[in-house]
Amino acid sequence: MKISLPPPKMKVPCFDLPRQNEPLREELEASFRKILQSAHYILGPSVEAFEKKFAAYCGSAHGIGVGSGTDALIFSLKALGIGPEDEVITPSYTFVATVFAILHVGAVPVLADIDPETYTLDPASVQKQLSRRTRALLPVHLYGQPAKMDELLEIAHKKKLKIIEDACQAHGATWKNKKVGSLGDAGCFSFYPTKTLGGLGDGGMVVTGQAGLAEKIIRLRNLGRKGMSEDPADLGWTSRLHGLQAAALEVKLRHLEEGIARRRKIAERYKNLLSSTPLILPAEARDARHTYYLFAVRVPDGKRDSLQKKLSDEGVQTVVHYRTPIHRQPFYRNYVKRPLRLGVSEKIASEVLCLPLFPGLRDEEIDYVCQILRQFYHLNP
Ligand SMILES: *Cc1c(COP(=O)(O)O)cnc(C)c1O
Repeated sequence: MKISLPPPKMKVPCFDLPRQNEPLREELEASFRKILQSAHYILGPSVEAFEKKFAAYCGSAHGIGVGSGTDALIFSLKALGIGPEDEVITPSYTFVATVFAILHVGAVPVLADIDPETYTLDPASVQKQLSRRTRALLPVHLYGQPAKMDELLEIAHKKKLKIIEDACQAHGATWKNKKVGSLGDAGCFSFYPTKTLGGLGDGGMVVTGQAGLAEKIIRLRNLGRKGMSEDPADLGWTSRLHGLQAAALEVKLRHLEEGIARRRKIAERYKNLLSSTPLILPAEARDARHTYYLFAVRVPDGKRDSLQKKLSDEGVQTVVHYRTPIHRQPFYRNYVKRPLRLGVSEKIASEVLCLPLFPGLRDEEIDYVCQILRQFYHLNP
């Protein structure tokens, strides 16, 4: 008689930063020693070197290192002259920081729906939200998938709107062989430790092809001054990239493509092993290179929370990004404009579940996660 044994218990984290950084320890420590001896702790040569390299990687002429991805967004909006009375169209299905940035410059976030295949800003919904006051579009390249830039660029061109790309989840993602971040007026990146290119603390960058815009952002990050000892020429902030972060990020940038290749391999393996389950798997859009910052599946039929519990009981950590679209969060009620229904955003928010994915994730771990998922759906292991 055949007895089916319970699967072996494994602990699979959603991401594991020490595991990702450990292989780079020697390179990282050597670069830190240089900073320690140099006294350039804020800005300085290591920041300049990393700004050049990351901007070049993105295919942009200028890179400006700032304190966070949120600040990269705020400074870009501010430098593009967007402020009170202006409307900025952005998806309701995004991280809080996207909408906060618009609020921080005094502009009005106008929420649009997302496309059901890519989970990014839906151009048809944008069309419906355009008004006399619309000044900019702020698409988000969510989970590492580029937004629908063809249509968005066309709308922006026709209506003379600025485009600020929230590329905080999409380092290295491409659209028609061009890197995201280099497609609009400004591209904003976060180096939060878990991001596809993550530091060992907070950090961010704006990339742009426009020299005038770059100069303004250089002042905004540093109390309105270009250098440390000039008089201010702008109302700025204190939000600069630090020497140690830039040194770490330069090391990690050298390994970024390798990491993205591994992320894509992991996504492939998940897709193969899960193809016969009812889960709706992420698709790569035409003309796009998805970098799988997150592997977000959709769990249909209201089973998301029970599936998440099953995975958790079996030692697999998962995260829901994002459970509540912005327009459903009470905090924003008085701050945003939105249509009556954002049906796709609501549906996706009720189904999405992010499975473990980071470059150090092992094949056995992926197989284990898939085994649990197949078991949940009563499929052969
Ligand atoms: C992480 C993130 C940000 C903000 O980046 P921080 O560095 O944490 O300020 C903005 N938008 C999106 C979509 C993000 O994922």
